[in-house]
Amino acid sequence: MNLSIVIPLLNEEESLRELHDWIVQVMRSNRFSYEILFIDDGSTDGSWKVIASLCSENPCVKGIRFLRNFGKSQALHAGFHMAQGDAVITMDADLQDNPEEIPELYRMVSEGHFDLVSGWKKKRYDSILFKNMPSKLFNWAARRTSGVKLHDFNCGLKAYRKEVIKNIEVSGEMHRYIPVLAKSAGYMNIGEKVVLHQARKYGKTKFGMERFINGFLDLITIWFVSKFGRRPMHLFGALGVMMFMIGFGFSLYLGIDKLFIDPTGRLITDRPQFFIALTAMIIGTQLFLAGFLGEIMIRSRKNEPRYTIEKTLND
Ligand code: UDP
Ligand code: MG
Repeated sequence: MNLSIVIPLLNEEESLRELHDWIVQVMRSNRFSYEILFIDDGSTDGSWKVIASLCSENPCVKGIRFLRNFGKSQALHAGFHMAQGDAVITMDADLQDNPEEIPELYRMVSEGHFDLVSGWKKKRYDSILFKNMPSKLFNWAARRTSGVKLHDFNCGLKAYRKEVIKNIEVSGEMHRYIPVLAKSAGYMNIGEKVVLHQARKYGKTKFGMERFINGFLDLITIWFVSKFGRRPMHLFGALGVMMFMIGFGFSLYLGIDKLFIDPTGRLITDRPQFFIALTAMIIGTQLFLAGFLGEIMIRSRKNEPRYTIEKTLND
């Protein structure tokens, strides 16, 4: 199978059939063998009904329904788990991403030797103040922190070689940083393609302004995890030892001073150095313990799924 098209969705009943027909038309005219995976992330409208009827009409359509809303990242995770195509395309369900881009994206990952190609909505049809401006700042920060030179991390339209998605774990709200995850998993050939973008046709966006706050926090997490996730002791241990040494240095000074230099002077507990020594040694021990616990957790961690699938169709 050439292509798996993974589409996470939440309450997009109006768009689904139109999107399906459009994708099918593009697939037929390019003679691709394909599957379309709709992941219903706990919709409360008629989305699942539409998916169920598409599944019965077209055997290339598969559906997954979550018991409740688990978020776009979890929906992608479930789609990636099920995908069988040589290349995997992700796209949003709201008709903002254009299916006509799929053939070129497919060529870029299958012949162009890219591990991953990310769409770039160069000309966007979203609100300027609430989306375009914060998004520029956000992408700049993401580029600086991660070292992945993409203009548009949050673009829903992306293409992957199958191997890439089978080897990364999209957790939390990390869907914005799949390219970063891919890079830290060792897939360095990351490409970018300018894609057409449309205004949302039906319904409204599922993410509010909190997307930027969450996005920045996730960025810090991902930076930390990709740098120290597998060796927490190297960070916490080093900081802990450093703090402890500072504290130890001060106590040594106090001890020598009290014993040999000025035994009749102020009480040790009246001196500021005492408190510095105390705090630094306690914090140092805590940090060291954090690193130690981190190492133990890494060794005992199992990869449990973070979602519950209600039902699966055509699989
Ligand atoms: N989505 C989802 N789960 C969520 C939120 C969104 O599966 O919890 C889907 C949504 O239905 C759409 C895609 O993710 O297909 C992108 O969402 P949206 O269009 O609201 O984001 P925007 O285009 O505003 O970035
Ligand atoms: Mg959208």
